[in-house]
Amino acid sequence: MRFHKSETAFFVFIAVILAAGVLTLHAYGVLFTLADVTSDAGRFGDVAYLSKVLFATGVLLTTALFFGIFFIYPLIRIHVNEESKLRAMAASLSARSQTMEKAALTDGLTGMQNRRYFDDALKEYLDEFRRIERPVGLMILDLDHFKQVNDTHGHDVGDEVLRAVADCLKDLTRYHDIVARLGGEEFAVVAPNMDDEMMRRFAERIRKAISGLSIMSGNVTLRVTTSVGIAVWDCKESAESLFRRADQHLYEAKKGGRNRVSA
Ligand code: GH3
Ligand code: MG
Ligand code: MG
Repeated sequence: MRFHKSETAFFVFIAVILAAGVLTLHAYGVLFTLADVTSDAGRFGDVAYLSKVLFATGVLLTTALFFGIFFIYPLIRIHVNEESKLRAMAASLSARSQTMEKAALTDGLTGMQNRRYFDDALKEYLDEFRRIERPVGLMILDLDHFKQVNDTHGHDVGDEVLRAVADCLKDLTRYHDIVARLGGEEFAVVAPNMDDEMMRRFAERIRKAISGLSIMSGNVTLRVTTSVGIAVWDCKESAESLFRRADQHLYEAKKGGRNRVSA
């Protein structure tokens, strides 16, 4: 077994203190026998011996003191400095990994949750709601003829529209709803505790709000509409099957003429 430098220093320190302790005890022993010594010569010899023992004890204690101040304490300081540096590094690494984790689940353009977050969160909601047998509504929205917005006004204006729609969705949804950008001009809302009728009204409100948006770009005012597909979870099906049903309804809304909700 190999000892660290600071451990060896500590053992030496303890050994020197112990040796000083042993010498002190020995000095006590000599002191108590002094009363029994009758001759002056014997007493003088014992006192001379005692003073040598006490001197050696003093030397040992001084050595221990110097050793502690000039060797052990600097080692402790180095250790403390290293420790605080490591702690600062660990804190910065953990902050960075939290930021990276957040970035991995957030859509860069709109600041909304992204597809990855949506997939995990939907599964988690269904697992929770399976136990309490409550409905969960899902709506998928796809902006209508969005390619035309890009083609006519440019990609930057398209981005502006996407941000405005995202803000509108954030405003109209509740704290515990999941609102995500699935990609491109497609968004999704998961609304727990909503049955078919509530979901239909909710989707209609969102559709109207989006069609009522006036997005200013330079001196043009843009308007955009959205098609919405909704499905309410039957308390049994998988997240994939629920998503497929909502997506199928979205397709029907598009086919039916766009700017409408299909359930
Ligand atoms: P539909 O009504 O059938 O949905 O027609 P659409 O034009 O909306 O659908 P399509 O899938 O043909 O086009 C979607 C367009 O969305 C194409 C692409 O240029 C645009 N798009 C996707 N992602 C972004 C983005 O991040 N920014 C911008 N500005 N446009 C995007
Ligand atoms: Mg699309
Ligand atoms: Mg579209």
